[in-house]
Amino acid sequence: GAGVRVRDLTKRFGSAARPAVDAVSLDVRPGEFMTFLGPSGSGKTTTLNMIAGLEGVTGGEIRIGDRDVAALPAHRRDLGVVFQQYALFPHMTAAQNVAFPLRRRKLPKAEIAERVARTLDLVRLGDHADRLPRKLSGGQQQRVALARAIVFDPRVLLMDEPLGALDKKLREQLQIEIARLHRELGVTVIFVTHDQEEALALSDRIAVFNEGRIEQVGTASDLYERPATRFVAAFLGDSNAFEGTLSGGRLAGDGLDLRAPATDLPDGSRAALIVRPERLRLSGAPGSGDNAVSADVTDIVYQGAFRKVLIRFGNGGAGCVREAIGALSDIAPGDRVTVHWSPDHAVLV
Ligand code: ADP
Ligand code: MG
Repeated sequence: GAGVRVRDLTKRFGSAARPAVDAVSLDVRPGEFMTFLGPSGSGKTTTLNMIAGLEGVTGGEIRIGDRDVAALPAHRRDLGVVFQQYALFPHMTAAQNVAFPLRRRKLPKAEIAERVARTLDLVRLGDHADRLPRKLSGGQQQRVALARAIVFDPRVLLMDEPLGALDKKLREQLQIEIARLHRELGVTVIFVTHDQEEALALSDRIAVFNEGRIEQVGTASDLYERPATRFVAAFLGDSNAFEGTLSGGRLAGDGLDLRAPATDLPDGSRAALIVRPERLRLSGAPGSGDNAVSADVTDIVYQGAFRKVLIRFGNGGAGCVREAIGALSDIAPGDRVTVHWSPDHAVLV
């Protein structure tokens, strides 16, 4: 696969006050599985469509491999594209749909037949080659769309919520298939989703979008363990947040006075200390300290291999502790407790 390099990519629709995509810069490495993750309206599709050449750019630069693609129309960019809606030709069989990009490239007939058969096998549809799309299930139609996108060995595969129309079980099955295809083909993938679990399951790295900008790019564990912003911390999983003002290595406010992790922020900055639910320990006795806060237990929710203890801090903020079954503390709703954490497990944003 080829690398994709985006610099200051911007899109403004008509007279909109705010750009839909606001000076986005990003490097996708050759062969990497990169996911654009963010809420609806955050600019993921618009960014992907500009890379694909399906949407004009207001400003910025896009390079695919060593080529500046600004002047190239979509079909000359050598990209495979899959959308949420299968967009198959309804009057063509699965095999004819997959053959389409090869016929447009005027490959010899024998080579087309050979490649179509091989690619349909790759997406496990070898025995459905002669079916029309309406005779295929949603998951099978999306496999055909995937086969059509990879059959010509594109340098980059772009997918916009490709599993969004499928039910949960089928979605998880196809996630595994997509991960396998990426591994086997070595193609660079840019994958759009608003589903954090899907992003965590598939990606080498994730770019978190918010309001037309990228808030952070990193591996799943980078984003989870070291979120750069409040938004990233809140969008990926549960978190406990304590807000205050920084001064002399401490974060004070709302009746709390906590030890702050190392930071580049100057004294006087407003900041939040973030601790993930599985990094908190509960103890029965009330109290507080450098790395501890007192709280009231409001609810306990069992979730299979672990349970969530929902808590409310003295300042009214809600929080959550995750305990593995087998390491449960002896507490009940209504108890006053102390939550503490190791200083290594707190992040300042
Ligand atoms: P996402 O894919 O993250 O849900 P989009 O890229 O589709 O977000 O949209 C980003 C923003 O751009 C949204 O505010 C959306 O309303 C706006 N937008 C998208 N397409 C158009 C369009 N064709 N015309 C005007 N505004 C658009
Ligand atoms: Mg979208």
